Amino acid sequence: MSGPSPSGETVPSGGAGREISRLPIVLRDDHHRIPVHELLVLLGSDPGDGLTTDEARARLVEFGPNRLPRLSRRGPLLRFALQFHQPLIYVLLGAVVLTIMLGQIVDASVIFGVVLVNACIGFLQESRAEHALEALVAMVETDTTVIRDGTHRTIPASQLVPGDLVVFQIGDKVPADVRLTAVRALQVDESALTGESVPAAKESIELPLDTVLADRRNMAYSSTLVATGEGRGVVIGTGVDTEIGKIHRLVGRATSVVTPLTRKIARFSKLLTAAVLVLAAVTFAYGVARGEPVDEMITAAVALAVGAIPEGLPPAVTITLAVGVSRMARRRAIVRQLPAVETLGSTTVICTDKTGTLTQNRMTVRTMIARGRRYERSADGFTYDTARVAAIDDPGLERLLICAACCNDARLADDATAERSSGDPTEVALLAAARDAGMPVGEVRARRPRVDVVPFETARRSMATLHDEPSGARIVFLKGAAEGVLALCERAADGTGVPAAFDARGILAVVDDLAGAGLRVLAFARRASVSMDRLDEAGVDAGGFEFLGLVAMADPPRPETRGALETCHRAGISVKMMTGDHPATARAIAVEIGLVDPDRPVIVSGAELPTQDADELVRLTESTDVFARVSPEQKLRLVEALQSQGHIVAMTGDGVNDAPALRQADIGVGMGGSGTDAAKEAADVVLTDDNFATIEAAIEEGRTVFDNLTKFIVWALPTSMGEGLVILVAVAFAATLPILPLQVLWVNMTTAVVLGLTLAFEPAEPGLTRRAPRDPTGPILSRELVARMALVATLMVIGAFGLFEWELDHGATNAEARTVAVAAFVLIELAYLFNCRTLTYSRRRGALLRNPLVPFGVAAMVGLQLLYTYAPFMNSLFGSAPIGLTAWGRALGVAILVALIVSAEKWLRRPRTGGEVDVAIGGAESA
Ligand code: ATP
Repeated sequence: MSGPSPSGETVPSGGAGREISRLPIVLRDDHHRIPVHELLVLLGSDPGDGLTTDEARARLVEFGPNRLPRLSRRGPLLRFALQFHQPLIYVLLGAVVLTIMLGQIVDASVIFGVVLVNACIGFLQESRAEHALEALVAMVETDTTVIRDGTHRTIPASQLVPGDLVVFQIGDKVPADVRLTAVRALQVDESALTGESVPAAKESIELPLDTVLADRRNMAYSSTLVATGEGRGVVIGTGVDTEIGKIHRLVGRATSVVTPLTRKIARFSKLLTAAVLVLAAVTFAYGVARGEPVDEMITAAVALAVGAIPEGLPPAVTITLAVGVSRMARRRAIVRQLPAVETLGSTTVICTDKTGTLTQNRMTVRTMIARGRRYERSADGFTYDTARVAAIDDPGLERLLICAACCNDARLADDATAERSSGDPTEVALLAAARDAGMPVGEVRARRPRVDVVPFETARRSMATLHDEPSGARIVFLKGAAEGVLALCERAADGTGVPAAFDARGILAVVDDLAGAGLRVLAFARRASVSMDRLDEAGVDAGGFEFLGLVAMADPPRPETRGALETCHRAGISVKMMTGDHPATARAIAVEIGLVDPDRPVIVSGAELPTQDADELVRLTESTDVFARVSPEQKLRLVEALQSQGHIVAMTGDGVNDAPALRQADIGVGMGGSGTDAAKEAADVVLTDDNFATIEAAIEEGRTVFDNLTKFIVWALPTSMGEGLVILVAVAFAATLPILPLQVLWVNMTTAVVLGLTLAFEPAEPGLTRRAPRDPTGPILSRELVARMALVATLMVIGAFGLFEWELDHGATNAEARTVAVAAFVLIELAYLFNCRTLTYSRRRGALLRNPLVPFGVAAMVGLQLLYTYAPFMNSLFGSAPIGLTAWGRALGVAILVALIVSAEKWLRRPRTGGEVDVAIGGAESA
């Protein structure tokens, strides 16, 4: 049957018909007004079964994936133009004008050519870095629960289409624009859309047409976050057809490649540029005052400026950061905020949760206790007194498992439909235990329809549900941390259901015993024959429950945790476990992974944390490695206490309430697999494998990034200083310039790109994980490194000048002698590059090929230099001239000598404490 819809379109009266295609419905603005059943008809979606898979597939083709197109912040033309907005380019453009005025058209064109090439390289590098970052953002894709063909499935949010029925709960990101069909205590944080930080309460009512967006309580909008409760609804808009999509179209998304460090370095190079320009002006004035020809002094001043400005520095920083980001991604850590790359390298404390990060989050029920009987898992089910038992054999066990199956949101794997288990691993384990004890889980649940729920929350550590029993009576099931559940119980159940004596203390002793073996223990209770229509927290807290029993489950540590912890400790990083679990469970796991000394384990529970005394809190955080039963608010206070002691804190979190602590930490670490969307949004780094070892890997990469930046600076600055000094010395002593502006340009541009950038790809230094974290407030360069740079610059001046004068004395022309000087510069930089690949003296040899780019860089540089020396067009462009083999030999000899001197300097500065040979670089020990 078909009929006219409120909008006048002819649509089928139900089901998912293809006639609905090109739904004009997504373009309407009255979704909040139409009654839900009419809206579902308009969208061709079945109220119970949702869309069919085929229909969803067809709509996906029609509407496209549910994601926002990537918009670049600036157009390519503008970005290219911005490449010219640099001090060096201004100097060079000034030089172009001056050389034209002096009539040197060839020089002017070459300089201009260099400016263009420089802009192109800069543009390409910047685009690559931005693309790499954008691709990473896409890697953290959100999953969502959808009802299709009548079953719940988890699919990537990008696959949603209009008409899909979706379900979301606390911590989820609303995956599309949704008209709500049912809610339970739903509040949504809409700050992403409206800027309003107080969560908005939602209802599934109809609203008048003129309700403004912010007041549409029956709608949930894409990209907003569920702060509490649960909701269900039908998708009315996806991708760009959502409210956030409209905003996105207006502003685009800015991918920033700016970090505190890039800012610091940009400031430094600006300062240096200004100093160089002043020096060039002074040189010019000094020369002219002494009676030198003006045009020669202009040449000298330009050469000095071009040589001494460290133009390669800012792009090298960006590229090194981008390389670091993609290396981290390869090791399963996705960087959401670029500054995190730098901060990671300075981390001094990691606060990590236990479940899923240190452990595998693969729970298996080991022990169940009901009516004082203890059941242990065996190979094929559960045994009591060595006899295999089915739930049906023991009414006490059956009651416990009914509670475990009903007060449970998970779904068990179905081999018939190849559906995977989904939900909280704790709850999946409970369902698996019920199944293994012979209980027909699906049937038990179907016969007890759920009326209401108080969902699990870390702060409450329990979950409760209200059901209709097959007998028609209402019943409340409760499960959660034993202390809390027992406090609400007033009796136990005996085998026949008759109230029995209840010994809370005795039960807690059993709980301690199980937890001491590293097991997670849950207690179960019920309140039968209640007369309530809704269940809320107050209803649960009223108590009166009947205790049903305990279930203990194992969650083994990840095999790589122990090694990662050892690495952290060696690297001077302390690790603190902050878990919501029982203190005894936390202790057992902490001992097993080697986090605490088994003889002196210090465990502090949330209840023991001082609420007033800040000093005491600081003392406790410093001295304790395991915090158990802590709430998200307490985690926040612990992070603050650590930071007040100057620590750089990385903190993991997965729950919606963890977001404030994640934001407060210097590095918020979200869990890509098990974490809520709210926690991921608040995180700086997301681990795709939820694994503690990945945090350690990311810290290693962070340190490597910093090392490589330092290496580039230590390599690049002496060259700039050396080139500037050569000109300065020449003018001061009224000598012929050993290297001309164009030649300085040649050396700078070729070496920075071909040699210098290979340092961004250097692998980790040996000994990286044996040194203390870097002090982020300390200088980038240690005194030793500055001294080394001065040494190298001086050696360059002596080498280049010495060779130039020697060649002139031995009958070479100016052009030939300059070619030898240029060769000396290039070869010294090449040899010195090998010095810079480790910043400290290292006994480890044979590491030349660890960075495969270096041999390519060296080969390319040699090729370019041969071209520069022997190609006639290069000779006429740059004023170079062919030189003989012996001249090459002399230049190479000087270069090798410089490298040897630097090696000797490193050796002299090696630490004498014995053992390993590496020391901190620019870090805590040397700052
Ligand atoms: P972390 O991940 O911080 O190491 P956790 O995951 O073990 O800790 P929570 O998830 O906050 O901590 O759980 C705290 C306690 O709440 C558990 O020890 C358990 O007693 C109880 N609990 C956990 N999951 C559930 C659940 N689904 N239903 C009821 N109670 C639960």
